[in-house]
Amino acid sequence: MRPDSASSVARESTQFSGLLNRVETDEMATEMSADVFRRSDCRLCGSTDRELVLPLVPTPVGEGYATADRLSDVQPCYPMDLFMCRACGHAEFPDVINPEILYRNYLYQTSVSLGLVEHFRGYADEVVRLVKPAAGSLVIDIGSNDGSLLKFFKGHALRVLGVDPAQEIARGATEAGVETLPDFFTLDLARKIRRERGPATLITANNVFANIDGLVDVAAGIRELLAQARADQRRLDSRLCPTPERAAESVAISRRADGA
Ligand SMILES: [Zn+2]
Repeated sequence: MRPDSASSVARESTQFSGLLNRVETDEMATEMSADVFRRSDCRLCGSTDRELVLPLVPTPVGEGYATADRLSDVQPCYPMDLFMCRACGHAEFPDVINPEILYRNYLYQTSVSLGLVEHFRGYADEVVRLVKPAAGSLVIDIGSNDGSLLKFFKGHALRVLGVDPAQEIARGATEAGVETLPDFFTLDLARKIRRERGPATLITANNVFANIDGLVDVAAGIRELLAQARADQRRLDSRLCPTPERAAESVAISRRADGA
């Protein structure tokens, strides 16, 4: 891992450690390991008005299968209670597991799922048909796993970059021709990518967003990287005294830039 990536992870870990302190005062603290903290607010809108809608028993991490010589080991279990935010309707796990545990040694690879690779072939073809990116445009996939999707975008003469914290899978993807940063996607990383490689025309994320705790930071990173979002923002900034018609248009542009 590059030094700046390491510092980014270290910074996240520091933030996480700080948040862990909240567990000390949480009513669920005694039921959790030190690798989990319970959010006090909705991860989407920030409201504290949430309710438990589906209690589930604590469960080991997915794909964490024990080898034959470890069958007697007791695997750590993590809370799975599902809450819903009364303010925005977002259903979520309030208990956030340290992403280093969940994703650094992730084992699942996209290419082992029958049919998924073919789905990604059609997905890439369809997106290119709709967006019509110029040759050499940058495509970024967040949580890119083994690069199964990006290799199809690469086949359309586009530059591709994967971002995935699973270090071994990221290394394998890079060696197979899809450069992949072994990192968590953050606003800091987005700024760095933009400095080094320019804006992205396309950013994809599949089965990823729902697993992220820092939604605002990731969304800000996507906005930072998207070329069109920046261009729309410049148009907004140039409208110092908009007419009612222009003001309405500005709202529409703002919503589009925000991904709404
Ligand atoms: Zn909410």
